[in-house]
Amino acid sequence: MPIQQEQAGVHVFETLDDFAEARVEAVGFIFHGTVPVVKGKGQGSAANNLLHFARCPRLEKISDQETKIWFRSVRVAHKHLDETVGAKRWKWCKFCEREITQRVLDEI
Ligand SMILES: [Zn+2]
Repeated sequence: MPIQQEQAGVHVFETLDDFAEARVEAVGFIFHGTVPVVKGKGQGSAANNLLHFARCPRLEKISDQETKIWFRSVRVAHKHLDETVGAKRWKWCKFCEREITQRVLDEI
């Protein structure tokens, strides 16, 4: 249900234009990777499932094939990713990880 997801601060990008727009705004957090269609099947490795700040320059290199999801806050991102991807099947981008401040962690 798209409307409810929007309200929850989660948005799955349908097009690359959509994705590019979110990067220009540079608000929130962006995940990219392989989200299993069926739970427990075909899960990618954690190395390919990364969460970034929306402004991260590494987001330029994301392939068209990957699932891209926007989150308003770290808390929403953690909850959603743990539920849909799996608690140990995603991680922070190394580059972004260094930028995580105590303020961001307090949000979790
Ligand atoms: Zn990053």
